[in-house]
Amino acid sequence: MKKIMAVNAGSSSLKFQLLAIPSEKVITEGIIERIGMNDAYYTIKLDGKKIKEILPVKNHAQAVELLLNDLLTKKIIASFDEIDGVGHRVVHGGETFKESVLIDESVIAEITKLCDLAPLHNPANLTGIAAFSKILPDVKQVAVFDTAFHQTMSQEAYMYAVPYEWYEKYGLRKYGAHGTSHQFVASEGAKLINKAVEDLKIITLHLGNGASIAAIKNGKCIDTSMGLTPLGGIPMGTRSGDIDPAVVEFIAEKENLSIKEILNMLNKKSGYLGVSGVSNDSRDLEEGMEAGNERCRLALDIQYKRIADYVGSYYIYLGGLDLLVFTAGIGENSNRARSEIIRRLQVLCLELDEKANDVRSKATIITKPNSKVVAVLIPTNEELVIVRDTVRIIQNIH
Ligand code: ADP
Repeated sequence: MKKIMAVNAGSSSLKFQLLAIPSEKVITEGIIERIGMNDAYYTIKLDGKKIKEILPVKNHAQAVELLLNDLLTKKIIASFDEIDGVGHRVVHGGETFKESVLIDESVIAEITKLCDLAPLHNPANLTGIAAFSKILPDVKQVAVFDTAFHQTMSQEAYMYAVPYEWYEKYGLRKYGAHGTSHQFVASEGAKLINKAVEDLKIITLHLGNGASIAAIKNGKCIDTSMGLTPLGGIPMGTRSGDIDPAVVEFIAEKENLSIKEILNMLNKKSGYLGVSGVSNDSRDLEEGMEAGNERCRLALDIQYKRIADYVGSYYIYLGGLDLLVFTAGIGENSNRARSEIIRRLQVLCLELDEKANDVRSKATIITKPNSKVVAVLIPTNEELVIVRDTVRIIQNIH
């Protein structure tokens, strides 16, 4: 095996990474954005340099064609035969997909059925799969689901206390998200402290623009903060996280808005952005707060408090805690966020090592040796999980 491509297709974008196998070295990576426009952006990184082009890209099939031909032109590959497999991130696997699978007609039909549960994401993921199958019809493709890792939750953890028929008729329940990231950082975190993930009680904090928390016992997810959709859980860059559901009717009447309009505001105009009125970016909020903007401070504090609430509740549900893992944009880069969250968890006897915590995007233990719970920073790498699963599944069928 030589090369595997990891693909993350959004509604108007296509992110890719090409990895060498077995070294797992990134050969190239990039993104095509604004697909469907006459001035789409194509960015590819080669030897540490970013090359950006603006050009028309009609649809995902054209984006894939552009990318693959460019790999040939730039002599990154000598022929398409060098690509042994393509792994696709698929957002929603429902209850059908508990692990990654080789894509065939029946898998495509199942992912299509699940579009109902992820109307923005699954159709885009399918478009990416179709585009690659068209141009590389003989190359094996694998689907890696964001929800799969959370499928080990028990019914008491994933059910909402609503009429049971909603679950039976529509599959309404908690599914979670960022599963590949939670799974990856939990096992890397365990490695960093020289323990087996199967022997640990772990809480993983994936804190990016989208953010979620998972409780992991003996390597299996037992609870997670996101719900039926990625709107649930802790407040995020632009999303509210959990709220009293009666808010929807209350605001509908006050502001004369439809449910759709309110949901749009809960998804796109809430969280950091909604509370601060400044930005959805934690760096802007930290800057604003330092300059004395109290709403920036409040937006961050609300999130930190809610993170601490979840950790407390998962501590009980796990029956203790060995390892707390920080990851994603904020978890990897903001030492202030990590220190503020750990400060709020004092009762769990975490002893932050301020010096060790002064670090970015590098696997590090950030608590003192005598800390009862170990906290670590682990850079997430969802593409690597996609590639590893793709290699494993392709090798199994040979
Ligand atoms: P997503 O993949 O969900 O879009 P990311 O994992 O890229 O999100 O995280 C984006 C968040 O990470 C933003 O809020 C951004 O401010 C934050 N972030 C990135 N770098 C830093 C940094 N140096 N300090 C603080 N926050 C950072």
